[in-house]
Amino acid sequence: MRGSIKGEKKTACGHAVRALYLYSAMADVGYECQDETLIGVCRELFDNIAERQMFITGSVGAAADGECFTCDYDLPNNYNYSETCASVALALFSLRMMQIDRKGKYADVFERALYNTILGGMALSGTGFFYVNPLEVVPEHLKANRTLHHVLPKRRPWLGVACCPPNIARTLTSLAQYIYAIDDSAVYVNLFVSNKAELKLGKKSVGITMQTRYPYEDEVVIEIVNTQNAVFTLAIREPGWGKIRLLTMNGNSLELKRKDGYIMIDILLSSDSTIRVLFEMEAALVCAHPRVRADVRKLAIVKGPLVYCLEEADNGKNLGALMISAKTALKAEYDPTLLNGTMTITAGLGLGIYWSRGQAEKTAVAADCPGMRRNPGDLRDCKGRGA
Ligand SMILES: [Zn+2]
Repeated sequence: MRGSIKGEKKTACGHAVRALYLYSAMADVGYECQDETLIGVCRELFDNIAERQMFITGSVGAAADGECFTCDYDLPNNYNYSETCASVALALFSLRMMQIDRKGKYADVFERALYNTILGGMALSGTGFFYVNPLEVVPEHLKANRTLHHVLPKRRPWLGVACCPPNIARTLTSLAQYIYAIDDSAVYVNLFVSNKAELKLGKKSVGITMQTRYPYEDEVVIEIVNTQNAVFTLAIREPGWGKIRLLTMNGNSLELKRKDGYIMIDILLSSDSTIRVLFEMEAALVCAHPRVRADVRKLAIVKGPLVYCLEEADNGKNLGALMISAKTALKAEYDPTLLNGTMTITAGLGLGIYWSRGQAEKTAVAADCPGMRRNPGDLRDCKGRGA
């Protein structure tokens, strides 16, 4: 941490994994001891990371030398470290902050880290792992350029420093703590994952079942079996990347009562309830804050919490020359045969190294390139070299 406890602005710094483990412990101590000063420091550190030092994939650690945070808006795409463990640690810290403050922004961050960098740190087969997770990899540059020595073009069966594989395993096996948070009178739904749970609310218990194909589909159905007649608030996270467009309970539309990133629903006595949530989650283009120099004139393709990855296997070798207009229509399509079934996005594109502003604002389709296809970033490196 850079900055004194009182006064100076707090900035995350140092080895990203160790720093975030430290911040997680600080949040625990702050909460247990009700130490508002310490909690305030944690809030500032979280905001500094989430708003100025985090990659779009929920990874952190811009520098390989020291595997560390650097400074605000320093977010390079090809030589960043972004260790898988750093995203695990960021999820742990965000979870603790959510337990203190009950704000959706904390779950936004652990969802981003989970769906992109943490899942992407492991192969679909579960037998290959990335240690670092840069956003751009040109395999033929890696051997020749010593500043890229830490970057792997392919996942490996095992890693010499074997922290990341077990860290992914423990995160996935403890996923329940990320899905729900519980108070005596409220259940917070933070992640949308099919599950069945028995939750203790004070002395009463409530059964909850969630059915969904999120993030590939936009619908979540939550059934509550309230045999003990608990009165409580069901708080459903409205993700930072989009909005909830429809919410019904037992078929009736509900008013969207928003609070700190959640939609609050009153669950009353003896009501067994079926709640249906529909998200706005069309594929979209997003850009970075203009102070992120590495991302000037760059756009990312996202759909819900997933950040999409452009690969050589689909799009040819010279990925860096692909150009997309901000007005390009994006077509999302579920392909049941690809990588055990995944959502792909295709877009028309232009091709060139320099272009006029007018050209950039048109949707151009290059003659020798049929279109651009992207897969969720967590499925990168499943079809061949180059990402
Ligand atoms: Zn690690």
